[in-house]
Amino acid sequence: MGAHRQGRSAQGGRCGAESWGSGDCGRSQCGSLNRIIRKSETGLGQAAYRRLIEMAKNTKHIAIYGKGGIGKSTTTSNISAALAEAGHRVIQIGCDPKSDSTNTLRGGDYLPTVIDSLRDSGKTRLEDISAIGFKGILCIEAGGPVPGVGCAGRGINAAVGLLQELNVFEEFEADYVLYDVLGDVVCGGFAVPIRDGITDRAYVVSSSDFMAVYAANNLFKAIGKYAPSGGARLGGIIGNSVLPGYPQALIEDFAKVTGASVAGYVPRSPVVAQSELYGKTVIEASPQSDQAEVYRKLAAHVASNEQLTVPAPLNVTDLRDWARSWGDAINKEAVSSGTAAN
Ligand code: SF4
Repeated sequence: MGAHRQGRSAQGGRCGAESWGSGDCGRSQCGSLNRIIRKSETGLGQAAYRRLIEMAKNTKHIAIYGKGGIGKSTTTSNISAALAEAGHRVIQIGCDPKSDSTNTLRGGDYLPTVIDSLRDSGKTRLEDISAIGFKGILCIEAGGPVPGVGCAGRGINAAVGLLQELNVFEEFEADYVLYDVLGDVVCGGFAVPIRDGITDRAYVVSSSDFMAVYAANNLFKAIGKYAPSGGARLGGIIGNSVLPGYPQALIEDFAKVTGASVAGYVPRSPVVAQSELYGKTVIEASPQSDQAEVYRKLAAHVASNEQLTVPAPLNVTDLRDWARSWGDAINKEAVSSGTAAN
């Protein structure tokens, strides 16, 4: 991926309404924040800018999307932990207004968000908005707007702009930067990581529930829109809490009809909930468990996978028909096995 494209993101920032970052949308903080980002870019200087580009060629910037509650933060943090455990230098940036993406990497302590820090002081230092977590992972939370005001995409762009300004990617020498992005709605704001070249690859966490698949299909639409102009491409679907049998078959079929691939499956396990109760990832809390091995295998795939694609999302009618055909198949199976609800 190219840091030059990251730079362009701050200059060209626009939301779904084509006015993101300009202040034209009526969100007063929107335009002023974008000016901060622009200022930081011009302050980089040509030499630092070139170094950033060279460094960025060796750094994989990976977005992991998923609808709320699907387990994307758990999945992202365990991938980060597995990569760090394997000796890689990792940055995880939470891009969810809940700002709890990195909790299990750093014991769950409060971490000021980038957007809050910029809002309060206008200028901030890396140590103000970051924490070193498990195995040296640099943890950052982009943060979100004041509830009811502003655009969540601002936090993501502000975080990236600030990290550029502070030369974090260069000085930390990250091998992997993981962006944990809320994916219920892939609007202009939440599409920032895949839209403006911040990342060059995206994964989506999905269960076999329809709304999770629906969210994945929306992400595919966004990738299809932005990939031709330099946006991210799809690394694959990560099936979370997907049981063998029809749930896996459903995910496999969705991948097949959209031209996507499945990066791996993470089974439901009480080890995950138990680890989170201790404020840790599975990799840290239960390193000998089968579940830890699942995450290590997934992390290895994400780290090495270069088969990136531009998927072909289903239109509304085809998605509805596809879902109904699966409903019919599941019902038929239940009737024949005597387990139908009615
Ligand atoms: S994050 Fe919210 S305000 Fe920003 S583009 Fe999306 S829907 Fe609009």
